[in-house]
Amino acid sequence: MRRVSSGWRESRYSRSREWSKGQERSAQVLEFPRRLKPHWKYAACGGTKVLGKRRMPLRVGSMTGEQTQQPLRRLYLLYHEIRSSESRYSYVLEAGSFERQVDLFARMRESKSCRVWPEITFDDGHISNIDLAAPRLRSRGMTARFFITVGWTGTKLGYMGWAELRSLHEAGHSIGAHGWTHKLLTHCSDAELQTELTKSRLTLEDKLGTSITTMSLPGGRANRRVLAACAEAGYTQVYTSEPRAESVPLGTTVGRVNIHGDMPLEWIAKLFAPDGSALSRLHRQYRMKETAQRLLGDRLYMGLWAMVNRREPGTDGKGEGAE
Ligand SMILES: [Zn+2]
Repeated sequence: MRRVSSGWRESRYSRSREWSKGQERSAQVLEFPRRLKPHWKYAACGGTKVLGKRRMPLRVGSMTGEQTQQPLRRLYLLYHEIRSSESRYSYVLEAGSFERQVDLFARMRESKSCRVWPEITFDDGHISNIDLAAPRLRSRGMTARFFITVGWTGTKLGYMGWAELRSLHEAGHSIGAHGWTHKLLTHCSDAELQTELTKSRLTLEDKLGTSITTMSLPGGRANRRVLAACAEAGYTQVYTSEPRAESVPLGTTVGRVNIHGDMPLEWIAKLFAPDGSALSRLHRQYRMKETAQRLLGDRLYMGLWAMVNRREPGTDGKGEGAE
């Protein structure tokens, strides 16, 4: 049984001792391992079996009827709240727009010329994820990754409870952690990191009866200390807000494109273009925002972010804003 310095006990769903040794080693060098060892790769590659050095793309025709072989490049999209009506708050996406985007991704997956495979993720655990998003995914035979702010589960109005999370898990969606309180991890003390990372993982494992190995960073903020703590806490993959396509098998950090409510469908489609120019432009903007964030400091930057993104009072975009 692994020793956890905070006193949180490992659940029976936690990874093997062998895996744990690897994480300890990575923590010693204070950086996340670039590539997981071969026997870890099955869990890390998200649907692509790795046998030795040979990558074997899975055929997933049984999921949607017409899907072809998955290409070895992926682009992860990041969503937050879906709403029946339009909103000026950029982290809210109208349900009809979400539906059109999911249709676009389904068509891409069915196309023989698909070079970058779209993947859907959600952060925070908003109730609309199960009420409005899950039915639209189910009707198209698609699944998503839901990253949950665990301390809000069953306690915060507007966010999913354990019954909803169990239902998503049983429907084949993947569940990961998104901290305990949504505090920016770069602002956490060592003791707070234990709560945000270890307590949230063990609670999800106990409540859902499954192993939790992925998390996404609140506000997309990380540094070497945070990434080492994520590895120490048992996460094999950390999902960020850095807009970049990924190759499979995935590395230990996974970039995502944060989808805003005012992004046109045609613009989203261009992110998947073979020349990668739209995605490169977005990545340059991301780097500029990162610089602004560093220069202004998180407090001032987040104030500006709330204004620019028209954050609504009472919503939980607080702590986001690094996309
Ligand atoms: Zn969040």
